[in-house]
Amino acid sequence: MSVWRDRRKRQQEQLQAAEDFVLAWSGTVDPDSYEYGAELGCCETNRLATLFRVFGFWSTANQLQKEHERGPNCNDAEIHPEIIEENE
Ligand SMILES: [Zn+2]
Repeated sequence: MSVWRDRRKRQQEQLQAAEDFVLAWSGTVDPDSYEYGAELGCCETNRLATLFRVFGFWSTANQLQKEHERGPNCNDAEIHPEIIEENE
């Protein structure tokens, strides 16, 4: 029982940490910041964009992906999802 509770507690901590991360980092992405998404590789961009999207930060995720796709590091290592603007 305590193992189950520990795992549940750990999952809650992980979820909280993920949410805190997203809240903190969503503020650093804006339309004028060309440096943030452009520095990431295709895989990192998709992982980070997914994280933003599951927490509802659609415009942040889209902005991140757009910056990345314009930047020098987008090399088709991984396919990017189509950006759906209506979710912004
Ligand atoms: Zn890419």
